[in-house]
Amino acid sequence: MLANKDKKYIWHPFTQEKTASLNIPIKKGKGVWIYDENGKKYLDAISSWWVNTHGHAHPYMREKIDEQLGELEHVIFAGFTHPKAIEISERLIGKLGEGFDKVFFSDNGSTANEVALKMAFQYCYNNGQRKSKIIAFKDSYHGDTYGAMSVGGRSDFSKPFEDNLFDVYHLDVPTDLNFNQVKKQLIQFLNNGDVAAFIFEPLVLGTAGMITYKVKHLNELMAMCKAKDVLNIADEVFTGFYRTGKLFAHQYLDIKPDLICLSKGLTGGYLPLGLTITHQKIYDAFYSEDKKKAFFHGHSYTGNPLSCAAACASLDLMEKQETVDSVRRIVQRHKDFIKVLQARNEVQAVRQIGTILAFDIKSSTKTSYFNKSRDVLYNFFIDKGILIRPLGNTLYIVPPYCISNNELDLLYNAIKSLLNQIRSGKIIV
Ligand code: PMP
Repeated sequence: MLANKDKKYIWHPFTQEKTASLNIPIKKGKGVWIYDENGKKYLDAISSWWVNTHGHAHPYMREKIDEQLGELEHVIFAGFTHPKAIEISERLIGKLGEGFDKVFFSDNGSTANEVALKMAFQYCYNNGQRKSKIIAFKDSYHGDTYGAMSVGGRSDFSKPFEDNLFDVYHLDVPTDLNFNQVKKQLIQFLNNGDVAAFIFEPLVLGTAGMITYKVKHLNELMAMCKAKDVLNIADEVFTGFYRTGKLFAHQYLDIKPDLICLSKGLTGGYLPLGLTITHQKIYDAFYSEDKKKAFFHGHSYTGNPLSCAAACASLDLMEKQETVDSVRRIVQRHKDFIKVLQARNEVQAVRQIGTILAFDIKSSTKTSYFNKSRDVLYNFFIDKGILIRPLGNTLYIVPPYCISNNELDLLYNAIKSLLNQIRSGKIIV
């Protein structure tokens, strides 16, 4: 009933509406579970597109958002400010430590990256330099707005827009095998003298298929950029807030990025918010008697108090020992499960970084969004009451941190059952 009405009125994201199944109407959430209109429950193993960190319908999150709702729902963020925006900024700057001084608000991951890119270009412009190029990884994903799409990898998703995307120097993702070649590419790009910034998803390219790469490689690439006065932008939209085991992925690195972009887990997955955080030197390039040097960017809902209250509440929960212990437990449980996966013939390229576990199902062809195998895998888990969205033939788990050991077992067992069915030929991928 609801599903049919949905079909009649709504156009869903990343969906070929003609061939997609009806969307499942979800009426309730609790912890790692979401419940459909008939009461069937699904374990949200991907944190609803990687946003949810503490579980659905968390009483504390609700209390704090509700508290804010009783005070102030929204106020224009130019000429005005409010306590929760100040609180989240002060607390995050405190956690990030030296090298981060200023917080700029926007609405989501794409806009947090748009802001970083525009800041980088205008930083150069305000300093009298015309630098029009960005370096990014070939397969990266930074969002769906034009700037974010431009710096992302070129794919079937971006094809219709290719003529309108700005030119980017695309760098291969580093591996032990190609690193010297990647460095040569980077030197060539940097020598052109027209690069404003290097943007990267630190240590794991999420949407590209949970492709991990090494700290030492990123350290070196960032150092090369820094030496040429090219700003380093860490897109921590996915990796922020303990996904990689540390609060932020850049904390594994020797060099601090000049700008970091946060969203998703920032509000615990409760309300949309994007932050771009940078240091004094960049801020100072905009700080002037000349009004034209200001950063002219903002959205109607910039700094929304409800979103900021959610971010503060989520940070309260992040600071609890219970959450930190839970993250450690998930990391260890994944590590143990990896050994099981590595012994299986049906999988390859098993990888883990923190709470993110990914592997590829061996397949005669590389599957994609457009391939039926991806749907076979998706439907296998949905039938079992588990929400896992494969990226082609890559399966991954990114759970909320409140997931219990029993719930993790349920996930791991469902994966083992899938592999058994592939082995016995009941499922063909
Ligand atoms: N950057 C990264 C690394 C992402 O994973 C995503 C979303 N998956 C984005 C940016 C875009 O964020 P949003 O969907 O909130 O615009």
